[in-house]
Amino acid sequence: MTNIKLYSFKLLLIALISNIVFSQTCVAQYSLEKFSGKLNIPLNKEELISTVQKIPKNEAYMLLKDSQKLAGSIISNYKDKFTYRNRIASERNLKKMIKTVNRLNFHYNVKGNFYSNCSENTIAYTVNIPKFKNDIWICPMALIQTKEKVAQFIIHEVAHLAFRASECRATYIEVLTLTTQSEISDPLRNEPYWKMCKTEKLISKKLKAFN
Ligand SMILES: [Zn+2]
Repeated sequence: MTNIKLYSFKLLLIALISNIVFSQTCVAQYSLEKFSGKLNIPLNKEELISTVQKIPKNEAYMLLKDSQKLAGSIISNYKDKFTYRNRIASERNLKKMIKTVNRLNFHYNVKGNFYSNCSENTIAYTVNIPKFKNDIWICPMALIQTKEKVAQFIIHEVAHLAFRASECRATYIEVLTLTTQSEISDPLRNEPYWKMCKTEKLISKKLKAFN
């Protein structure tokens, strides 16, 4: 190969690799735009920011740690009782999720700053990059919720991280693990996903099978 041909070949290779990398970089956001359930929703963005700014840093840290612990115990309890013949929430997938929950790395701040993929309606997000396989970006809206609600968001995000669950699968696992336990009596409904993924139907079918 001449030098010019070799150079263009290298360029083509770089273009191909970066195309693969970028096409796989997708962001999984947990948004609150069409939610039903009890949540702490401020009047506007200014109120959200000023509420978050009043939270002491160690309090935010404890909220995330407690929620992480709760999310871990919810997934473990579910795994020990119900994984039989459950393809999506299989024992293998749940084990992967527990491993990920224990290794979670939270990006959060109490300055009221928004990370690049946070809006005032976003709770949290993950990015599909191997380097960030244990990372969750916590948006200001998450820091003003109860640990039970944050645990719900964590279970959803961890399904994305642990085995690249689609939105439907992540929603299904989140709702299934929560409804089979008494710790959280009123899981939130993420309306667009519930409709699109037929979550309610799938869950009631699965619950009947367990009984
Ligand atoms: Zn999601």
